[in-house]
Amino acid sequence: MLRNVAATSVLLAGPLRGRKAGASLSRCLHQTVTMAKRLPARRLQGIDYNPWVEFVKLSKEHDAVNLGQGFPDFSPPDFAVEAFQQATGGDFMLNQYTMAFGYPPLTKILASFFGRLLGQELDPLKNVLVTVGAYGALFTAFQGLVDEGDEVIIIEPFFDCYEPMTLMAGGCPVFVPLKPSPTQDGELDSSGSWRLDPAELASKFTSRTKALVLNTPNNPLGKVFSKAELELVAGLCQQHDVLCISDEVYQWLVFDGHQHISIASLPGMWERTLTIGSAGKTFSATGWKVGWILGPDTIMKHLRTVHQNSVYHCPTQGQAAVAKSFEREQLHLGQPSSYLEQFPKAMQLNRDHVIRSLQSVGLKPVTPHGSYFLIADVSDFKLKMPDLPGAADEPYDRRFVKWMIKNKGLVAIPVSIFYSRPHQKDFDHYIRFCFVKEEATLRAMDEKLQEWRAELES
Ligand code: PMP
Ligand code: GLN
Repeated sequence: MLRNVAATSVLLAGPLRGRKAGASLSRCLHQTVTMAKRLPARRLQGIDYNPWVEFVKLSKEHDAVNLGQGFPDFSPPDFAVEAFQQATGGDFMLNQYTMAFGYPPLTKILASFFGRLLGQELDPLKNVLVTVGAYGALFTAFQGLVDEGDEVIIIEPFFDCYEPMTLMAGGCPVFVPLKPSPTQDGELDSSGSWRLDPAELASKFTSRTKALVLNTPNNPLGKVFSKAELELVAGLCQQHDVLCISDEVYQWLVFDGHQHISIASLPGMWERTLTIGSAGKTFSATGWKVGWILGPDTIMKHLRTVHQNSVYHCPTQGQAAVAKSFEREQLHLGQPSSYLEQFPKAMQLNRDHVIRSLQSVGLKPVTPHGSYFLIADVSDFKLKMPDLPGAADEPYDRRFVKWMIKNKGLVAIPVSIFYSRPHQKDFDHYIRFCFVKEEATLRAMDEKLQEWRAELES
């Protein structure tokens, strides 16, 4: 052990001299001493389980209709596919490194495209960072901004990675729930009736609060936050000098005339907001893993520090394809020929199809106003089938989904994975269905559900 410590000191005396060698040295000494005792870094404690790894594996093991993980099972639009083909078969320099913070044509078009929507003049070099998907954007934001002991407010239900990303940065997640209001008998619940309690939200802000994570449209609920709700969040963030990490990957997917509003476009919010997007969700190409963050240079410069010292830059060809796709959309925006106009209309039809089908077997869907997910209440089944296989302390929805995959050939995602541990049991009567699926998949779902209904009636 002592020999290791000595070796570390010798190394650091060389190349790190002149930089902050003292701080680095003490960190490295600490690391050397503890290495023999524990293999995983402390920051990984308690976060080794990942629901996607479990449920994606389960769905592949069974020949089931997959309405679980959120990916389209159809092709991206032709213009996007062609842009990708061109990027891989055209200019050979697209096989090489590009600029660290984004392929210049992509940062340029993101700046002009989103600058208009946010009402800001965006500098492609200072206000845009291209990342490995929205996952990469979120990770970069948490690593760049959240410190040991900082509190991060997370609205439940939440896209599950917000919690482990807060913990990995040393922060402390503080949860605040969206609460459903009761519906009249026979009335369908909708995502709009799930609301924050303003007093409860205000009570979560303390002197240690560093950031609040907002996700609109929300995954898994499909809630589209209204202007009044965003103003409430914005007012509290300003009052308590808190940053807002706004995950808007489903921003184009809004239904029934609802409107997506970026919180960064509200007065006084640009200065404290990071807006996160995903080409995977925008152009139905989740495998491309191109994401981005937009924000003020004062915050973005810290994210660039994380980025330049971790991935350095993202794959060039995917960025070139996304740049071309946005350039095309810029010309068509607001017109019927725009993919961003057509896609939500098609998904609204899918949503309505899935709602009707689920109702036919007695599942109670909550109508989403946005995203490509909906949650459905399975309470009636909980009463009829209280004893599904699985550990007694396992949330009911997890047991229900595992049973449904195996016995009914249908994959969904338990909604408890979108809640903090203490709140999981309160929401384990919901499961999430993804409806960004082609017609044949929805028809296959119908068949499964009709067989199920026939069984229930016999
Ligand atoms: N945020 C939300 C709300 C998501 O649902 C997802 C999953 N697509 C992501 C971020 C990650 O997106 P990406 O696939 O671009 O990494
Ligand atoms: N965002 C997608 C979903 O919610 C995919 C998540 C994942 O694969 N980790 O289904």
